[in-house]
Amino acid sequence: MYRQNELVNPFVLPDVNGYMWLKGNLHAHSTNSDGRVSPQERVDGYVNRGYDYLCLSDHDNITFVNTLTRPENFTLIQGAELHPDNPFGGDRHHFVALNIAEDMDARSMPPQHVIDAVKKQGGSVWLAHPHWSGINILRDTMPLTGLAGIEVFNTTCRCAGRGESAVHWDDWMDLSGQLFPAMANDDAHGADSEERDTYQGWTMVRVKERSPAAIVEALELGASYSSTGPIIFDIQLRRAEEKRVVEAAVKCSPAQRIAAVLDSRGTEYHEGGKLFETATFKLRPNSKHVRFEIVAPNGNKAWSNPFDLTALY
Ligand SMILES: [Zn+2]
Ligand SMILES: [Zn+2]
Repeated sequence: MYRQNELVNPFVLPDVNGYMWLKGNLHAHSTNSDGRVSPQERVDGYVNRGYDYLCLSDHDNITFVNTLTRPENFTLIQGAELHPDNPFGGDRHHFVALNIAEDMDARSMPPQHVIDAVKKQGGSVWLAHPHWSGINILRDTMPLTGLAGIEVFNTTCRCAGRGESAVHWDDWMDLSGQLFPAMANDDAHGADSEERDTYQGWTMVRVKERSPAAIVEALELGASYSSTGPIIFDIQLRRAEEKRVVEAAVKCSPAQRIAAVLDSRGTEYHEGGKLFETATFKLRPNSKHVRFEIVAPNGNKAWSNPFDLTALY
């Protein structure tokens, strides 16, 4: 059904095989661009908050990780936020590039050249905050190939009223016929003390080792989920007795509702306002894919990556 980006369900990767969850933020700025704290202060902030990994994605230029100190079990992913031209009519692009080694003059390059150049370096390119940037997926993103996935939530953009890009995500999968993984990031610019755009959006990744390569590979495979609070413990999908119906079983931290967002339309699970930690429910017959949004009592959300349902029928 789906042409590429065959995704992995992180919840079937067992502890006994050495898999662990790591918490990280893949989009942050320092005084190397328009952030208000030094690169080292930015790293220290995320270390002190118990994160496992961080990417300092300063605008246009790499902040080289060998200039920074961190505990041995804290992973720094070397990256940058790159801003190629947008020849398709929308605003200039915002791409988060992970695991890159060399700077490039992205502002003078077409977006496809930037994606290709990052990938040639062994890196991974992600569509950042399309809702905030006014990106129209059909116009601005569909002409491009090679993007790894999308930033479904961005704390800084939430501060500007456009934090969530879930509809862009759905549009992109619908138009392309591909499943894309997502991440949630702070895009931190401020200082900790401002409590504005730090430590509020993160991505949980399921890996066997803490290396930048292992983390980025798992992100690209979708072995992750995004969150602004809720924890997802498990998601299992199985064929129901009815023909072409799939049943979902979700375990999570206390939730008020779960949206199962399908390739068209969707399903909502709730218990009439009562909080719950497990949910088993059927999805709309004949759906092609599903992703889940778990909503905490305070409105914070977690976003699973999409699952291909066609193989289950
Ligand atoms: Zn940006
Ligand atoms: Zn940014």
